[in-house]
Amino acid sequence: VVKGETLIDTIRNLEAMHPDVIIMRHSSPGVLHLIRPHTRAHLVNAGDGAHEHPTQALLDALSIRRAKGRLQGLEVAIIGDLAHSRVVRSNCHLLRKMGARVTLCGPPTLIPPGLSRLAHHTTTRLEEALEGKDVVMMLRIQRERQGGGLLPDLEEYHRRWGLTRERFALANKDAVIMHPGPINRGVEMTSDMADGAESLILDQVENGVAVRMAVLYLCVAGGTDEPLA
Ligand code: ASP
Repeated sequence: VVKGETLIDTIRNLEAMHPDVIIMRHSSPGVLHLIRPHTRAHLVNAGDGAHEHPTQALLDALSIRRAKGRLQGLEVAIIGDLAHSRVVRSNCHLLRKMGARVTLCGPPTLIPPGLSRLAHHTTTRLEEALEGKDVVMMLRIQRERQGGGLLPDLEEYHRRWGLTRERFALANKDAVIMHPGPINRGVEMTSDMADGAESLILDQVENGVAVRMAVLYLCVAGGTDEPLA
């Protein structure tokens, strides 16, 4: 693609090698729908622009369920740059399907129109978002967005929307902290939050391996429980 080949031609070249699965990360939202007619392979979306990241949501759900024993009835806050996040949309779909209640929070300039209808509640006030939550998921602030007029400077962002121990006390006792990574220490959260006992951040990374193995297994084994030959 970088050398000028069209994406469709790239996919047709890949298809000529008869892959069972194509795992695709691409900057264009919805790109998998474009390539679907050009391959018989299973397609796994590994992140399409700021649209969706399904396996991230699956590994997040697994991490929450392992920590809390359930998803049903949990109060989840997703906080940060909602506008450029592919993680938030997939998590809204999955968590709501599994019976959790989702609150979204971020600076007003980073809440895209229409996203609110995927959640139960949306607010720009961090304290309101944290109150009574079982799960606090912080999203990455993309440093490259700074200067685009959408964000105050990073220190100001941290002052208003950064997670600190004091603010985290508003969440429920035994609440957990999540982040899809990579984290910006001192921006989305303080280091003691990222490294504390409540943090599931490295569990998320670990569970990503199991989830992606499972996705590949289901693709190539045809969704059966039969072991692979
Ligand atoms: N760090 C995650 C990933 O690379 C989240 C993301 O893509 O936004 O899969």
